[in-house]
Amino acid sequence: MIYRLLALLVGASLLLLPAAAQDVPPGVTIHVVQRGENLFRIALQYGLTVDELARLNGIADPGNIQVGQRLLVPSDAALLPTSQPLLHVVQPGETLRSIAELYGMTVDDLAARNQITDVNTVYVGQVLNIAAAPVVPTAVAAAPTEPPASVIHVVQPGETLFRIATGYGLTVNELAQANSISDPTVIYAGQQLVIPNVTLPQLALDLPPIVTGLDIRPLLFLEGQTGRIHLTTAQAVQVSGAFLGRSVNVAADASSMAFTILIGIPMFTDAGVYPLLLSLTDSAGQVTPISVNLQVLAGNYGSETINLLADRSGLLDPSVESAEQQLIQNVMGSFTPTRFFVGPMGLPAAAAMTSPYGRKRSYNGGPFDRFHSGTDFAGAPGAPVLAAAPGYVVLADHLNVRGNATIIDHGWGVFTGYWHQTDIYVHVGDFVTTGQVIGTVGATGRVTGAHLHWELWVNGVPVDPMQWVSQSFG
Ligand SMILES: [Zn+2]
Repeated sequence: MIYRLLALLVGASLLLLPAAAQDVPPGVTIHVVQRGENLFRIALQYGLTVDELARLNGIADPGNIQVGQRLLVPSDAALLPTSQPLLHVVQPGETLRSIAELYGMTVDDLAARNQITDVNTVYVGQVLNIAAAPVVPTAVAAAPTEPPASVIHVVQPGETLFRIATGYGLTVNELAQANSISDPTVIYAGQQLVIPNVTLPQLALDLPPIVTGLDIRPLLFLEGQTGRIHLTTAQAVQVSGAFLGRSVNVAADASSMAFTILIGIPMFTDAGVYPLLLSLTDSAGQVTPISVNLQVLAGNYGSETINLLADRSGLLDPSVESAEQQLIQNVMGSFTPTRFFVGPMGLPAAAAMTSPYGRKRSYNGGPFDRFHSGTDFAGAPGAPVLAAAPGYVVLADHLNVRGNATIIDHGWGVFTGYWHQTDIYVHVGDFVTTGQVIGTVGATGRVTGAHLHWELWVNGVPVDPMQWVSQSFG
């Protein structure tokens, strides 16, 4: 059957198709290669062999494909799930109109089926119920039906069962059952998961042709956490953008055709759907705007009351606190276009975590309008403090609230801070490496006892540092 399709495609001279998604003829879809995918996995997903997929796309070396590369794939009705309801997870660049077109529905049908009143509010990661049968392209309508191919998903570092399930339009329970997983929180990198039901190839029909890939992880953003956007383009462009009323920092590679945007979601962000606005300017000055709706969910970080000792309460003087806060924001809110961090970060101390990031705080009975902006580690005075990742020391000083403080610039707008130390062993301008001893744990500044407070900032926002220990943003 594949060879019939190939013959059909060759006969129709379709192999020289432009990459623009809107030019895709019936019978063919385009798969945009995602990070972590290889040709084998993609072929398996569509019930093809690697050879077939490589030949169809003129790929000489199946081991060499690029993230964002567009692959021609024959649409095969046999691969569509037969069980209802069919779910579709909204991908970056999709609109309700393009999704409706994908399934041969009208926008009104799709909106009504999902109780959507404003068609512009669809957001990335939203799960839509597609009850109508997908359109079967006439070119393959007569093809003999085959059982749906199983997909094998290899768990990547930092992935959760929830995220994997969502990516395939499944529930966690469906995925756990299919793999006999009793505890959905225990999965490991490299684990092979059977994806029981293949959803439609996910196309972003509404992305402009200049965009060759737009990857947003995770699909749903969480208050206090970090999100990563990876954009690739067909030609060199300059990219700027904004999210949540703040401009975003854009890291470009040497070709100016691949871009990474790291976004810290500020604590106290109201849950809701917010547009990510990107602006692509090419060498001729032509500007292509992109707007992608992203959902921000509320975190569940809990709360605590802090009672300060009387002799140190004076440090809450607003003028002392705000001047120091301004200093920290200036240093940790800047942007170095070079990336020094690689892979997940290390821990800043060989000690137990005593207080997690994010707890909403009240000081001495006041309102819960503060939050714990870092992660605390236990430690006797004198225990070593370790650099969590490579970078340049940009602050090493005694501060009133934060005590003996060190800040490291890891590039791409990512900084770590180490507060309340007894000794600081590094100086501004030093380049440090992961695990290097940069100081010792102490009780300097506004504290109730000796501990290390570790802070991580992204794009000017203090976020949960532990997400960076378990996930790679490099
Ligand atoms: Zn702390």
